[in-house]
Amino acid sequence: MNLFSIQDVTGPGLPLYHPPGKTVLKELEDFVEDLNKDAGYDYVETPHVFKTDLWHRSGHYENYADDMFIFDVGDDEFGLKPMNCPGHAAIFQDQSWSYRDLPIRYAENGKVYRKEQRGELSGLSRVWAFTIDDGHLFIRPDQIEREVEEIMDMITDVLETFDLEYEMALATRPEKSVGSDEIWEHAEEQLENVLEKRNLDYELEEGDGAFYGPKIDFAFEDAIGRSWDGPTVQLDFNMPDRFDLSYVGEDNDEHEPVMIHRALYGSYERFFMMLIEHYEGRFPLWLAPEQVRVLPISDNNLGYAHQVANEFDEFRVEVDDRDSTLERKIRAAHDDRVPYQIIVGDNEQADGNISVRDRFEDQEYDVEIDAFKAHLEAERDEQRTEPDFLQD
Ligand SMILES: [Zn+2]
Repeated sequence: MNLFSIQDVTGPGLPLYHPPGKTVLKELEDFVEDLNKDAGYDYVETPHVFKTDLWHRSGHYENYADDMFIFDVGDDEFGLKPMNCPGHAAIFQDQSWSYRDLPIRYAENGKVYRKEQRGELSGLSRVWAFTIDDGHLFIRPDQIEREVEEIMDMITDVLETFDLEYEMALATRPEKSVGSDEIWEHAEEQLENVLEKRNLDYELEEGDGAFYGPKIDFAFEDAIGRSWDGPTVQLDFNMPDRFDLSYVGEDNDEHEPVMIHRALYGSYERFFMMLIEHYEGRFPLWLAPEQVRVLPISDNNLGYAHQVANEFDEFRVEVDDRDSTLERKIRAAHDDRVPYQIIVGDNEQADGNISVRDRFEDQEYDVEIDAFKAHLEAERDEQRTEPDFLQD
């Protein structure tokens, strides 16, 4: 499907998205961007590389350096970012905040680099460079429940739109941890409240949280029952401390905000890979790299084919103008998993209408151009997973 490649010459675990792959990726980015904007996130952007001073401050240098790409430039040491959080914490820290300003919500499609063992690299699912639909919130402790609820709404939107099976787990305080008893109890209680209120089935993984905070993790299940890491909501009582983050409370004192790390897809690359499996390459119309292909029956119909394609220029449409039989063109469109084929011959040209085939049925329907356009618009805009069939 020409979606992506990983090549020897460009390096291991470093995926290149080809135009059709980037088209799907862009739809995924836009989908998340809409959710983020509705939920009050502001987009930020940070570079791919930082001085290691930042990684010392965040703690990554002592705990994570083996998995990082670190190099010297002159007298300074730099590292490619394995996570986006320290950059976002540095942005928050650059300003002073009042309790009324919180929550602050930053979002970034942030590329990160992690030096996995070469032997463990695999397709898009285990790579050196990947992008997280990352979000970091800086909130007051009393805002945990409301914010986590909002994030769960966004995750639910993702699960429903892509029609995904999933499992969920709440991981609580491990033996070694930072933060007071009070903040841990308060936070875990609020996370449980959200899950209980929604009547969600979840696994309780006691003691399995990170040392810096409790978390809710999702795992997707694909069409053949494999499990993939998915969305995550993670509270953090450590990084605000390391970065000296603060806000002025109602009492005029300095307080430390709670940080939340959250991702709706997790890694775009892994999510993409999972969707390819999940849909068996047959992306729903709104995601399909090529949405409509016009097949002229003979060269006599080529002009009309282009005229029809122009009518559908709000979609990703191509004309198959190869010198080939209709049967072959239909097969090629089918193999390329194009959702809809428009067939135009002398009859259609004379009547000014079209014949349409979809990839799920082996049937052809004569339809009017405007009626089919309305059908396509509805299927795309409602981001349906299943097509509604033309005869309905
Ligand atoms: Zn983070």
